[in-house]
Amino acid sequence: MSDDLFLKIIDREVPADIVRENDRVLAIRDINPQAPTHVLVIPKTRYRDAGELAAADPALLAELIGTAREIAEAEGIADSGYRMLFNTGADAGQTIFHVHLHLLGGEQLGALAG
Ligand code: 5GP
Repeated sequence: MSDDLFLKIIDREVPADIVRENDRVLAIRDINPQAPTHVLVIPKTRYRDAGELAAADPALLAELIGTAREIAEAEGIADSGYRMLFNTGADAGQTIFHVHLHLLGGEQLGALAG
């Protein structure tokens, strides 16, 4: 069995609330949502982070972003606004080293620290 949680979810070894799926991408609701809409958009092929994915398969990276936009439209938050982000590495809070896009929205989101 893989130690990659998202591969376990993709393989249906671990349950998840699936929002959207095709041959390349799975989208699930985050188990600990940080906003009314908090969806994780995950490629079925494992790459460690967004930079590794961008270098290896830019079309798949673009598909993650396009899928997030479609989900935002389906959730009714496309017009009010939403955030897409990739935590990359430990200092950014990445805890699962299988790249995933966070889609957050449905309320006024806090400003990013800067
Ligand atoms: P990261 O911190 O790596 O950017 O994001 C990992 C995300 O996965 C977190 O937001 C966390 O709440 C979510 N997560 C962790 N375990 C599970 C799980 O078993 N199921 C789902 N749906 N989300 C999870």
